[in-house]
Amino acid sequence: MRIAFFDSKQYDKDSFNEKNKSLGYEIQYYNGHLNVHNAMLAQNADVVCVFVNDILNREVIQILANLGVKLIALRCAGFNNVDLAAAKEFGLKVVRVPAYSPYAVAEHTVALMMALNRKIPRATWRTRDGNFSLNGLLGFDMHGKTAGIIGTGRIARILINILQGFGMNILAYDIFPNEEYAKEHNVKYTDLDTLYKNSDIISLHCPLTPETKYIIDYDAVKKMKKGVMLINTSRGQLVNTEAVIEGLKDKKIGHAGLDVYEEEAHYFFKDRSDKIIGDDVLARLLSFNNVIVTSHQAFFTKEALDNISDTTLGNIKDFIEGKTLTNEVK
Ligand code: NAD
Repeated sequence: MRIAFFDSKQYDKDSFNEKNKSLGYEIQYYNGHLNVHNAMLAQNADVVCVFVNDILNREVIQILANLGVKLIALRCAGFNNVDLAAAKEFGLKVVRVPAYSPYAVAEHTVALMMALNRKIPRATWRTRDGNFSLNGLLGFDMHGKTAGIIGTGRIARILINILQGFGMNILAYDIFPNEEYAKEHNVKYTDLDTLYKNSDIISLHCPLTPETKYIIDYDAVKKMKKGVMLINTSRGQLVNTEAVIEGLKDKKIGHAGLDVYEEEAHYFFKDRSDKIIGDDVLARLLSFNNVIVTSHQAFFTKEALDNISDTTLGNIKDFIEGKTLTNEVK
């Protein structure tokens, strides 16, 4: 069994090589994102193993099918980068890792909230420079404030639990509201307009779909409470970044914490510190002192990496052995 592994980093290799010791699959690691120009590297492979920014559009899938690839093994939860209709048309199965550590993402979401609210990065730079003044570091009590959570799946429910520990009230919006869960956990489902109007912090936890693309646009920002904190640890294209920049400039948005960015594929997961940032929107975003951008790292814990390699190789093993694919994306 040969696996062409795209967008690989040293930590992926370490984790997959360790788990593969007992399986003995032949894994060929490639650094680049899978795209139409390098799809030929999957020659002789039965499986391609891919991550969030690999491109699996119709053209790429057709090339993979012609090369004899039979399985697309996503080592992530989201599958918005795969043309599922094309995969079906060309007879490729798609599997994913539905939940490798919802705790990792929920906890990073809280880290962004706390770091923004209490201005931890600024405070750190200051004290290192011998500046012990508190001017400009004023935060707010999370206790008693309202968090508006969009999408109430695995990650959101862990986040809600943590935020309730702070004494926050929870408003939620989900296309499939679970009233039983809401009743049991003191969560109030509402429509988006009410959530925007009443939330001190808004956090996104729905998948990227045609319906959720730019769910946060100019209109949504207009409806938010003045000074709102916006957090996105889900997918970059949920947010129209230019609308958020406008919101930051006119102080409608008081803080933004972004672990994902709509054009992240060109920058995230790479060291580009010796180059200038050619993306003006990203550069503008990074210029605000009330914005924190992290490089799609919410998932990045030891436990999550272990679960990712375990589940991905398990998915591949099930496929080889002709077993039911419990993590198939259809
Ligand atoms: P999940 O499937 O458990 O929950 C998603 C929720 O969103 C569900 O309750 C669903 O009903 C809801 N939803 C679907 N469409 C919606 C819509 N149009 N409007 C409102 N709600 C909608 O997913 P999860 O495991 O909680 O993950 C959420 C997202 O987090 C993933 O889709 C992925 O994009 C992102 N993620 C990010 C990282 C990271 O490192 N930053 C890691 C893992 C997952």
